[in-house]
Amino acid sequence: MKLRYLPLLALAVASCSHADKPAATAAPDARFDAFKNQFIEALWRQNPDFASSQGYHKYDSLLVIPDAAQRQRDAAFMQQYLAALGKFSLDSLSPNNQIDLRLLRNELRAERWYADTLQNWQWNPAGYNLGATVGDLLNGRYFPLDRRLRNISDKISHASEFYTAARANLSNPTREHTQLAIKQNTGGLAVFGSALADSVQKSGLSAAEKKTLTDRIATTRQAVQGYLDFLQKQVLPAGKFRSFRIGKDLFDQKFAYDIQSHFTAAEIYQQALKHKAELLHDMGHRAARLYPKYFPGQKAPADTLALITAVVNQLTLKHAPREGFVDAVKRQIPTLVAFVNEHKLLTQDPSKPLVVRETPLYMRGSGAGASVSAPGPYDKGANTYYNVEPIPAEWTPAQAESYLREYNDYTLQILNIHEAIPGHYTQLVYANRSPSLVKSIFGNGAMVEGWAVYAERMMLENGYGNNSDEMWLLWDKWNMRVTLNTIIDRAIQVNNMSENDVVTMLRRDGFQEEAEARGKWLRATLSQVQLSSYFSGYTEIYALREELKKKKGKDFNLKAFHEEFLSYGSAPVKYIRELMLRK
Ligand code: ZN
Ligand code: ZN
Repeated sequence: MKLRYLPLLALAVASCSHADKPAATAAPDARFDAFKNQFIEALWRQNPDFASSQGYHKYDSLLVIPDAAQRQRDAAFMQQYLAALGKFSLDSLSPNNQIDLRLLRNELRAERWYADTLQNWQWNPAGYNLGATVGDLLNGRYFPLDRRLRNISDKISHASEFYTAARANLSNPTREHTQLAIKQNTGGLAVFGSALADSVQKSGLSAAEKKTLTDRIATTRQAVQGYLDFLQKQVLPAGKFRSFRIGKDLFDQKFAYDIQSHFTAAEIYQQALKHKAELLHDMGHRAARLYPKYFPGQKAPADTLALITAVVNQLTLKHAPREGFVDAVKRQIPTLVAFVNEHKLLTQDPSKPLVVRETPLYMRGSGAGASVSAPGPYDKGANTYYNVEPIPAEWTPAQAESYLREYNDYTLQILNIHEAIPGHYTQLVYANRSPSLVKSIFGNGAMVEGWAVYAERMMLENGYGNNSDEMWLLWDKWNMRVTLNTIIDRAIQVNNMSENDVVTMLRRDGFQEEAEARGKWLRATLSQVQLSSYFSGYTEIYALREELKKKKGKDFNLKAFHEEFLSYGSAPVKYIRELMLRK
């Protein structure tokens, strides 16, 4: 990174403020608070893209060149702060700060582990995509257009160095991540297309600035195209790929860093196997009750899996039309808001509306049909987007039908609970109110995904869907999905499970459509451990609620539980549990 613009100023300000830092005799919590602020400020300078994504825009104009010298600076940075962290004694801090200290320590160790041991910078070409970064800056509303364009202009002035470093880093990448990089950088190229050119023309930039920016956009397009050519014409034909499977040791370590559960990866895998059997049992009962309603006068299949399949296939016939998928999602949001309010499940913030949009091109293709992009803790006023991927135009009618049946009218409601209300969107609004910046920034993925999965079951338990066997049966099927996610994640990455075996299992035990199962396989080849986060977090949150119910008896209040649980921000569930039990 080149400290050419604001950072020089920021450095000066930061070093001035050191003069007023609390003396060594200050209370440990005060010293730790000062340390956290100093660390986060330094981290943003070290990682401007991360800062931008969190809504901290001081360094938007900087581009980090991902070369060996930068990796050395990163390593020194982590080492320095790990050492500083070691000077605080855990017991001397408040419970909230104890969690923050553990989170920071894990974060710093994890960063080192990713760079030194996992080394994904060598084998994941999709990690380099200027279009995604610039697209986010362009769409962000934090600065007026002119300022955003000036930041973009400075940032992309180093596009060639960026992609040169990217190429130099790659050594036997995986075929799967190479293909993803081609797809996403092709989408990224669209960011530097006519819409950006139009913005430049209608902006208030001077003629000279416009000329500079236009030239830089042209150079950036060449750099992205050069990277695409390199991947398509050299890397792919050479065929020297490593396996995308990371194996047992790396998987177990990654699980420990990413999930921060009190369970090991192997223990969660065993729990998932057990839960799978319980879900199948419940599905059998519900399907047996529903069969006469949907197949009057017919004899039910004797085989339970066939019985469940018959009923599920009947229920999934109700689905949105191909062209109306994104609209169907939009229409359901107000219903969910009203249900949460009427049933007093938690307090919502009407000043933070959720914007449903079609997923931007540069984000498509990773296998996730819907996602939430939320503003970070620094720009709480920015839009939260619910990204929904429209059915790709190139899909055949059969492919589209398969996908639409997977997201049938029942399941689409559960998806919206998960992604939006009171799932991810609601949780993120709470997280941004959390008094701890550390917890807002280093959000724990298992807690975040676990909450969304927990929210699905909690809504149904409180009568969403009128407690019908139809809704519960499709919830079982949906919950089976996260359970199987955990099972296949380990089975693929550690036990070498083949694509055909995975698809067969997802279709048979998960009752999934072909397109869904193939999409899941793709996603499981591109990520590791992330697929296990849903089930891990959900299991821990549900257990915590039941534990507190037991402890508090008649005094237990569901709304109060939800609001307190969410008030700690996106911390690992095991630490939230400690705080809630201490009260
Ligand atoms: Zn149909
Ligand atoms: Zn989710």
